[in-house]
Amino acid sequence: MRRGFKAEAERTSTEVRVRLGIGKAERLPLELLASSLGAELRSAGDLIDIARLEEIERIQPGAFSACTFEIGERHVVVWNPLSTPGRISSDIAHELSHLLLKHSVQQVETVGDLTFFGCDPDEEQEANWLAGCLLLPRALLVVELRKRATADSIADKYQVSTQMANHRLRASGAMRQVLGH
Ligand SMILES: [Zn+2]
Repeated sequence: MRRGFKAEAERTSTEVRVRLGIGKAERLPLELLASSLGAELRSAGDLIDIARLEEIERIQPGAFSACTFEIGERHVVVWNPLSTPGRISSDIAHELSHLLLKHSVQQVETVGDLTFFGCDPDEEQEANWLAGCLLLPRALLVVELRKRATADSIADKYQVSTQMANHRLRASGAMRQVLGH
């Protein structure tokens, strides 16, 4: 990741919350962020048969998380309803991060009869990092840790995976700031 990106991502996350009128320790409504970026969120289950999605999942587990289509001026973020709620939040936040970072919509790759979106590895890392900052900004984690929250309680309250909560507690520096380790 390029120098300064992590601090920049934390700032972007703060700016987004201010712009949307969301408090620093509130759950970020992804629908609201999406519409502010001119994007629409759609479950893949609205677009294709759920049996087809289940088949894709069976053939290649985790192959489809979420993707973004560009339709004229609009973007449509399609997410996988078979994923856990925590994973869905991360996947949508990841897609919206690409839009916030003004990454170009990915080129299409075809594997068998399935279509995937190839991504630049640097842009992928940036989108992953920003997604974590959007869902669990450092300031939010500091507030939660001061209330003796755990990774599990944070995951539950903010609809993210425990893995994401653990990652952000360490990576954001919140744990070191509040607990000293
Ligand atoms: Zn991506």
